[in-house]
Amino acid sequence: MIRAAIISTGDELTCGRTTDTNAGFIADRLFELGIDVVAMLTVGDHPERLRWVWSEALRLAQVVISTGGLGPTADDLTTETVATLLARRIVHDEQVAERIREFFRLFNRPMPENNMKQAAFPEGAVIVPNDLGTAPGYRIEVGPADDRRYLVVLPGVPREMQPMLTATVLPWLAELSGAARVGHRTFQTFGISESRLDEVIAGIPGEGRWSFRANFPEVSARVVVRGGDVEARLEDFGREVYARLGQYIYGEGDTSMERVVGELLTARKLTVGFGESCTGGLVTHRITNVPGCSAYYRGAVNAYANDVKERVLGVPAAILAAHGAVSEEVAGAMAEGARRVLGTDIAVGVTGIAGPDGGTAEKPVGTVCFGLAAADGPTVTRRYQLWGNREWVKLLSSQIALDWVRRHVLGAPLLDLGRNRAEPASVKTESVEPD
Ligand code: AMP
Ligand code: MG
Repeated sequence: MIRAAIISTGDELTCGRTTDTNAGFIADRLFELGIDVVAMLTVGDHPERLRWVWSEALRLAQVVISTGGLGPTADDLTTETVATLLARRIVHDEQVAERIREFFRLFNRPMPENNMKQAAFPEGAVIVPNDLGTAPGYRIEVGPADDRRYLVVLPGVPREMQPMLTATVLPWLAELSGAARVGHRTFQTFGISESRLDEVIAGIPGEGRWSFRANFPEVSARVVVRGGDVEARLEDFGREVYARLGQYIYGEGDTSMERVVGELLTARKLTVGFGESCTGGLVTHRITNVPGCSAYYRGAVNAYANDVKERVLGVPAAILAAHGAVSEEVAGAMAEGARRVLGTDIAVGVTGIAGPDGGTAEKPVGTVCFGLAAADGPTVTRRYQLWGNREWVKLLSSQIALDWVRRHVLGAPLLDLGRNRAEPASVKTESVEPD
């Protein structure tokens, strides 16, 4: 397995003014190629720190990919550092120089002379073209055949670096890493903890590299396979994962809960609406982030105050008085009211205590009740004990509301947060029905 190190260069990074997005982007792509990233190193624009970081990187890894420090200004030192370290001369590339002059002519601007610095490379460098800016990147090979090192130097601007990596560097790396076919699949889950997910997946046979990413309130699991019949192996993993996790997987790859819900409703020609209390419109916000949502989303009633629940959604005053605004009974009545008022096939009602105040012993902060009303069956309700601060409770509630719609359309059992979370007793489900 090839070992790689990633270097990010720039004072703006070490000062905290710019967040390093380049290293993560590159690491993600290398992971997909089955390349082992042994270190990600960041330094400011100082000659001695740059020399140190480059020599460390070359000690640790066969492939070193760097971004930043390629600009025309005096503080951009990457090329000088590399040339010094490899004891190579810096040579002028007339073709690149002409491209830079052309770039300025195109924008009708006089070219500052220091831009010619970007046409200078350590001897033996192979240019990595940059279609979007003046500074091209390059790569250099050094060392004997049995201990070869590869240095890849790219500009820092993410918009330029990313297509350069994708178009030129990754195909070259794929070949370098033995041309073994590499494939991956990412499963998006909701309602199951990262630790539980890890446990379930650990039991899956087959050779693949699994990684997990928690992005509240979701967790994704990715498997990367190398060599052999990549498609068939990913197929096998997929079958096993779905058999073990079932409806906890809501989608695959680059998607979102609201997108998946939209696709399902569109396919089934169903419409949806919401009665939102504690989420304050967050469900609506998320669902309307998806282009084309007018095909299935009709609207929502933001019924925050009790008398709005009563007058607009028709929640009976007696139910409010008997059970309180945060109750399964009210959530169910909100769902039915929303469905009637909005004229939808499905409606979900959400009412809860997002905190930090308003909790009681009987209904602590994080108590959130859900109801779902639909044309094709009786109204269902649940009470969940959620966790986190106000923002988390709102986000988690919006996710549950969307997941309820998804599960309902698929005919899947309602979300059970009680049995699948490894968190302590604070996270338990009340009124769980067997599923
Ligand atoms: P440079 O190639 O060093 O001139 O970088 C040009 C610009 O790219 C910087 O001013 C930053 O705005 C941006 N940049 C550089 N390195 C990174 C990085 N690692 N992540 C995100 N942005 C970066
Ligand atoms: Mg810089």
